[in-house]
Amino acid sequence: MAERFTGSFTQQEPIPEDAIEAAVAVMRHGRLHRYNTAPGEMAEVALLEQEFAAMTGVKYCLAVASGGYAMATALRAVGVKPGDRVLTNAFTLAPVPGAIASLGAVPVFVDVTERLVIDLDDLAAKADQADVLLLSHMRGHLVDMDALMALCDVRGITVIEDCAHTMGAAWNGKPSGTQGKLGCFSCQTYKHVNAGEGGLLITDDAEVAARAIMLSGSYMLYDRHTAGPGPEAFETIRYETPNISGRMDNLRAAVLRPQVRRLPEQVARWNERYRVIEARLRDTPGLTVIDRPEAESIVGSSIQFLLKGWSAEDVEAVLARCAARGVELKWFGKAEPMGFTSRYDTWRYARAERMPASDAVLAGLIDMRVPLTFSLEDCALIARIIRAEVSAVFQGG
Ligand SMILES: *Cc1c(COP(=O)(O)O)cnc(C)c1O
Repeated sequence: MAERFTGSFTQQEPIPEDAIEAAVAVMRHGRLHRYNTAPGEMAEVALLEQEFAAMTGVKYCLAVASGGYAMATALRAVGVKPGDRVLTNAFTLAPVPGAIASLGAVPVFVDVTERLVIDLDDLAAKADQADVLLLSHMRGHLVDMDALMALCDVRGITVIEDCAHTMGAAWNGKPSGTQGKLGCFSCQTYKHVNAGEGGLLITDDAEVAARAIMLSGSYMLYDRHTAGPGPEAFETIRYETPNISGRMDNLRAAVLRPQVRRLPEQVARWNERYRVIEARLRDTPGLTVIDRPEAESIVGSSIQFLLKGWSAEDVEAVLARCAARGVELKWFGKAEPMGFTSRYDTWRYARAERMPASDAVLAGLIDMRVPLTFSLEDCALIARIIRAEVSAVFQGG
């Protein structure tokens, strides 16, 4: 009988015991709001911000309610206004164009390459249409960040990085999120640390940090942000900036702090799993593995491959055959949005024109989660199943 995988693609690891204990302590004392502290006490949220700033090597960090909120706040903090156009990736997920639309701004989509990163030629061609790029490191694929920053610096484009899939990753040793003006992270269950929901925003720019802190709902308590700029940065900004509440609470920060500390270990575990699958998919007839450049330090929390030039029927056949053996694959070529997966042309509020180069990549793009609850044996089994079913359909068709 054919081998079958019986695990779950959406099951996360439990919250670590020290994080549970920290969360229970917060519930016992009851001071869940970040500004509700006992005399001399540092809030869990403030500590998380300090620790994440130290880990990424930046000056300022702000914890907020979600990754989507972090991106919208970053856009506001750099001065995006209703009606402005904002460049972003055609290949990303719905919260990215959604953050742009939440300001009444308009996404301008940039093509994706076969390496699954933003196309720098298309970006250069569209550079005169906007002053801001919301760059999504979708599924953890980092574009040549040195080339991208050079292009954007010359054209005066402010870069905001969406690091929902690159917490713990780096380009040429520089942590993801530290090359643009701001980096935005998600602490949602399916990302690299799990508080259910949550977001982190990092920057070295005092003015931008001050605006983001006021926007997040700090009232006049901005001096409690020990990972924020000094009071001089708030002198006029505190009068000019609306409060758009989206704070993080101490309960979630308590759950996150031990996970942030453990991130390097978790990244190593993800990458072990990723490399097992990648090695076993290599040289499968009809299947193209996405090669990762030397400069990229990855976090292999998901894996992608291409079925280049395949018909929709054959791709559907692979998906169905893998599903029958317990392997859940996502397909970015699907016309109808499903689950978490949608495409630029299904975000009709953004009125994108057809993008033939991106369409050709997405038509063959298969995506799979790699949760840490998979063992290395699970990964090898999953790869064997994919390899067998891709080969069978490819040779049959
Ligand atoms: C999850 C995600 C975000 C942020 O999402 P939240 O659910 O708001 O935390 C941003 N970009 C991408 C690509 C994502 O997958």
